[in-house]
Amino acid sequence: QKRELEGRVALITGAGSGIGKAAAILFGQQGAKVAALGRTEDELQQTVDEIKQAGGEALVLTADISEVEDMQQAIRTIEDQWGRLDIVFANAGINGVWAPIEELEPEEWDKTIKVNLRGTFLTIRYAIPLLKKKGGSVIITASVNGTRIFSNTGATAYSCTKAAQVAFTQMAALELAKHRIRVNVICPGAIETNIDENTERRDLESEKEPVEFPEGNIPLTDGKPGTSEEVAELALFLASDRSRHITGTPIWIDGAESLL
Ligand code: NAD
Repeated sequence: QKRELEGRVALITGAGSGIGKAAAILFGQQGAKVAALGRTEDELQQTVDEIKQAGGEALVLTADISEVEDMQQAIRTIEDQWGRLDIVFANAGINGVWAPIEELEPEEWDKTIKVNLRGTFLTIRYAIPLLKKKGGSVIITASVNGTRIFSNTGATAYSCTKAAQVAFTQMAALELAKHRIRVNVICPGAIETNIDENTERRDLESEKEPVEFPEGNIPLTDGKPGTSEEVAELALFLASDRSRHITGTPIWIDGAESLL
């Protein structure tokens, strides 16, 4: 049986953990050569080792998606190594600080915007010249926050970046269609990863009331969050030729969480 991504080259950001790692391994199994990009080298090395142990090809790119030089260098490395780029999974992101708006410091706001929004822009911006050679597929990870639900009080900066990623997807899809580059955006609901462990949550100091973070109420699974592997399967579909007529589209993967 022919593998879905045979001969393709894929750049995946945030490939050291969670959704990005699951996608890197799945894309590798499906024949893609994988550039695993992120900040933490030893995590990325583990992803790459897993791909290689399964007979695939992969390389580590230690880079910060919000830094121009890092992203230029990452693309140069891919070009030197493989001479092409077919798939970009712009997945890396942070929750940042979750706090009431009046308690959120401007620098904290800037950090979330810088990583999630500028980082997505830079990841795609520097990849376009290589993608244009043969056409390709770009996939962004946004969220149900910023699209259909805004239930998490405190996640204002995060939700703004996620809404902006959807607008970015649609603008990019329109602009890049003539180069046969498709651009789509995945909007996950609650997915079991470590992202929450890296979140700073602050209460409204003046009121001493906790910011509310309701437990995910997910109709399809009786409240159980989705998995990185499930999101990776959707990313694979969007990366592959099976989705060849789909572009500019947000796709929710949330067990109907956002319909409540
Ligand atoms: P995760 O924390 O495991 O993965 C995020 C990865 O991005 C990490 O490996 C991290 O090191 C990397 N990263 C962060 N900042 C970076 C930077 N500046 N440069 C390079 N790499 C950077 O969490 P995850 O849940 O797999 O998150 C992946 C994406 O999914 C994020 O964009 C997140 O917003 C989105 N998302 C997650 C959920 C969820 O419930 N887990 C829900 C909706 C959307």
